[in-house]
Amino acid sequence: MISAVEALTRLQEGNRRFVSNQSGPVLWNSERRAQLVTGQEPFAIVLGCSDSRVPAELVFDQGFGDLFVIRVAGNIVAPSQVGSVEFAAAGFGTRLVVVIGHSQCGAVSATVDELRGGQTNQSRNLRSIVDRVRPAVETVMASRKDHDRDSLISEAVRANVRASADHLRHGSELLERLIQTAGLLVVGAEYSLETGIVDFFEGVPDVVRYA
Ligand SMILES: [Zn+2]
Repeated sequence: MISAVEALTRLQEGNRRFVSNQSGPVLWNSERRAQLVTGQEPFAIVLGCSDSRVPAELVFDQGFGDLFVIRVAGNIVAPSQVGSVEFAAAGFGTRLVVVIGHSQCGAVSATVDELRGGQTNQSRNLRSIVDRVRPAVETVMASRKDHDRDSLISEAVRANVRASADHLRHGSELLERLIQTAGLLVVGAEYSLETGIVDFFEGVPDVVRYA
């Protein structure tokens, strides 16, 4: 299995290809499918939002078997997300975890609107998502004088990514141990719907940032 830093570099290169319309050739033909029947070695774990505009394999220009992807509205971390990350990190030896949020996230916007006094008519199930996003948004709102909706949402998107990444780093004994002893790395990123660029803004080692 490649290291977290190598994995991160691979994702950055893939996103550059995607942004410049030079994606592919992606490995997703029947031959590649057949190779993967007996096992997998995904080189990165990606926790992203379910938003149809942010498909992890496409924005990172990766193919079958490359990414272990967990998608849930608002890229929140609940026990099943922690369990999924544990499963891949322990089972496949994957060393990089990317939490990826995105601009104009509906789950974050809904939380912001609710906290600004909007209507709350979500179902109990939807509420369980907003409840996970809310603490990060509250912190952002408390730290700002103005409550301009758009800038609040963009700041909240990043705060929500940081909260999920922190939860993965500290909400699991197994992951904590892999971080301390086996080179597991959890980084936070934001995908821009406008540009297609993924900005790895949190937890990135200097060796990658200044490469
Ligand atoms: Zn979203």
